Parts: sequence; C-alpha cells; structure tokens
Amino acid sequence: MHIVFAASECAPWAKTGGLADVVGSLPRALAKLGHKVSVFLPYYRQVAKAAPDAPVVIPSITVPFPTYNRFVRILDGGLAEGVQAYFVDSPELFDRESFYSTPSGDYPDNAERFGTLSRAVIEACKVLGVPDVFHVHDWQTAILAVFLRSTYYFDPVLRHVPAVLTIHNAGYQGWFPPRTMETLLLPWDMFTFDKLEQNDTVNFLKGGIVYADALTTVSRKYAEEIQTAEYGNGLEEAIRRRRGDLFGILNGVDYEEWDPAIDPHIAAHYSVEKLAGKKECRRDLLHAFGLEGISDDTAVIGVVSRFATQKGFDFIVDILDRLVQEDIVLVMLGTGEEHYERLLTEMAGRYSDKVRVQVNFDNVIAHKIEAGADMFLMPSRYEPGGLNQIYSLRYGTVPIVRATGGLDDTIDEEPNGGGNGFKFRGYNSSDLMAAIRRALDTFRNKEEWRQMMKRGMMQDFSWDKPAQEYVRVYERVIANRS
Ligand code: ADP
Repeated sequence: MHIVFAASECAPWAKTGGLADVVGSLPRALAKLGHKVSVFLPYYRQVAKAAPDAPVVIPSITVPFPTYNRFVRILDGGLAEGVQAYFVDSPELFDRESFYSTPSGDYPDNAERFGTLSRAVIEACKVLGVPDVFHVHDWQTAILAVFLRSTYYFDPVLRHVPAVLTIHNAGYQGWFPPRTMETLLLPWDMFTFDKLEQNDTVNFLKGGIVYADALTTVSRKYAEEIQTAEYGNGLEEAIRRRRGDLFGILNGVDYEEWDPAIDPHIAAHYSVEKLAGKKECRRDLLHAFGLEGISDDTAVIGVVSRFATQKGFDFIVDILDRLVQEDIVLVMLGTGEEHYERLLTEMAGRYSDKVRVQVNFDNVIAHKIEAGADMFLMPSRYEPGGLNQIYSLRYGTVPIVRATGGLDDTIDEEPNGGGNGFKFRGYNSSDLMAAIRRALDTFRNKEEWRQMMKRGMMQDFSWDKPAQEYVRVYERVIANRS
C-alpha cells in the first residue's frame, strides 16, 4: 500500500509538539510493515536550515488563487528508514520565523499557507505517484480532504483515493473568515453548517471531519470525549455524526529516541534491570538547573510542556504556594502563553531554592528531565494522547496526571499502591495537590516506589500495534471507495 502523509510538523525537522513526534515515527512503523510511505511537509525556514541542499524534484506546481497563481517547488527530503520525505517550498509562505504565528497572533494568511500546502501535495502526487490513501493531520491539512471531495471531485486519478484525518487536538480548528471560500476557490454551497461553516467562519478541521473517509484520534478516551460538548469545542455534533468512522488509536512512541538505555542526551544509561544510572541522570539534571545539594529524599518533579491552560498550568500556579511546603523541587521546561511564561518565571524567582523554569524549546533538556526527575507532572485539562507521560514510564519517572484522554488510557493508579502512576479526576487544583501528596507518600517508601518505577518501565507503547490499527483503517477506507 502507498500512503501519503501531509502534515504541518514532522520530527526532527519541524516540531512544536506531539503531532511532530507522531508524523516522524508512525510512517517508519508503517514502512517496517512493508508499506510505501511518503511524508510532505512545508519547507519552513527551520527545515531549510537543516536541509539547505534538498534537491528539486518538481520545479514548479501551479496553485491557482482568484487573481493570481502561486508557484511551488517540491524538494526531495531524502529516504530514511523506508520513508520518503518531500518538502513543499514556497518562500513567501514558509520562510518565516515560526510555523504558525508571531507573539502578536496567528499569521493572517494561514488559510492560504496551509491551503497551498494541501493543494501542492495533491498536485505533487499526480506527478510522483498517486497513493492508495492520504493521511492528513489536524486542521492544517484537514483541508486536503475537502479539496479532494470538491474541486478535485472529477479528477479521474484521485476520485477513488480516500483520505484519513487524524485529530491530534480538537482545540485548534483553523477558523477563517468567510471570504476564505473564495480565496481557496471552494464552492460557496459548502459554506453551510453541515459542511465547513461554524459560527460564520470557515472551519478547516470541521471540513476534514465532514469530508475525510475515516477519522482517527490519538487515544480511545479522547475519541469518546470529543463527542461531548466539554471536549468537542463546538465540533461534537459533526464528530458524533461520523462516529461510525471514528477510531481511537493510542499513539505509540519511538523508543529509538526515548529509551534511557540508549539515549545520547542523558548523563548515564540505565534500564529496568540496571537502574543505577538514573541517579547520575538526577544529579546531572539538578546541576543543569543550578540546584545543588538536593537530598535523595527530596522528590524531583519534572514538567516538559507547552505552557498553556490546556496543560493545566492554572492548576500548577494555584498550588505552587502549597507545593513548596513539601519536600520537593520542581523543574519546568516549556514555552507558550506569555502570561504563564511570566507567571512561572516570577514564581521561580520567589522560590528559587525549590522551583526552576527554563523558557525555551530544548530537546536535550526535555530528555534530561525525563531521565533525571522522580515524578512527571501532567495535570492537563484535556490531553488527546500525550506523549510525555509515556516517555516518563520508560524512564522510570512516575507520572502524576489528570484522568483525561490519553493520560487516562495509559496511567493507572490502584488503591493498594499498584499501578504505574497517580491520577486525579476532578477539574480542580486541590485534587491535583492530593494526587501529588499520594505520590510523595509512596516516594518515601523506597521499595514500593522502585516497584512502581519498574512496572512503568516494563510497559511497551511501541508503534507496532498502533501501526497495524492504522493499516486496518486504511484498508477499510480503500475498500469502501473502490
Ligand atoms: P502536545 O502535542 O499537546 O504539545 P504531547 O505530550 O503530545 O503534547 O507532545 C509534546 C512533545 O513536545 C513531547 O515530545 C515533548 O517532549 C515536546 N516538548 C514540549 N515542550 C517542549 C520544550 N519546551 N522543549 C522540548 N520539547 C518539548
């Protein structure tokens, strides 16, 4: 089977979050199963820096707009582990400081940027090879499914090609003004509530939900949650209408990148059989954050996250005064909403002997936190899949999570001290504080703690099974369309 991925992020080239990890690793797992996989992503400034000499494979693709054409090149990003990467090169659209926005807001031409990406992928495939299935991701390429079933409807080589949409986060939908229909040459009769329209905007994600042949999301729990008003963000009705074609497939993780036995970014290697190296990683982490002389009895709590309300930072801010009364240190890495960056930095200043914050995107420090912390905190308000809690399990860093989405699917707390972590349900900070206190109680019992670490480290969340589940979804949509 030939599968074409179209996405706005792909590790290691372009990453802001879990989407990039999935688009970087699922194709490799599919290739291992014997499938042909190509991945298209924008040739952002950051990608161009990493691959400045990517050869041109298609020198010009015409993407029409109402009064002008855009001319886009396709570059060869190389074949690695069976996956062919292609970059969509349009300097006017992608040679920018960041992927989606500036500190003052989203780029105003995002509809045109990602509309062009999707059109270019479709056109490129007509030259490079028509796939058996398109796999698109989040609002940025959901619109590809819309093009396929509208302006490309009569294309003889594409009309039988299905599209699968994965929803990595229903909180981001790509809302654009109505005139976007004209800009992207989409027919006005699709601007209705049962198709692309939502609150008088063109909603890219909704378009994908309506027009993709199947929908997947990144955990079983989130597949249920997004059918409710609390988590569907206005799309619950559209999603419910497609529930027969909706599949929750828990994200796998790439253990070549996230395994303390081979991780090149950490101070010492360790595994479930030989745990000793974790101590060295802990020392190294504390040193990296300028925290010296911390006793082994003090719990090191780590956070790696986008600083966003989604991730529960309001809860963290709320409990911080209480948390620092406990025998803990807290090390946080993240970037995001300016308000949290400021607030957390200020709090780290106030409790400088216990709380440290690094505000940037730093893959090496992310690995060091996974390896060096004792506990990993993810009190998310909602969490479609969540990868960091799964990385934490492999690193023997016990997760403390809110019971939502993928966090609920992967972390178990059992009353007798069993399970692989700590979990709270309530949508409030006192439940979070109570879960941390339970973790601290268990942490004091060294043997019980070690058993919990080991249970997590032995779990397997590799891509093997989820990749097979995706193949079943592809087979189903291909069969339905032929
Ligand atoms: P989301 O995609 O919602 O941000 P996930 O848990 O699914 O959350 O994935 C987040 C990914 O991004 C993880 O691989 C995590 O390590 C990484 N990450 C997040 N923030 C940072 C940061 N500041 N520096 C380095 N890596 C980060």
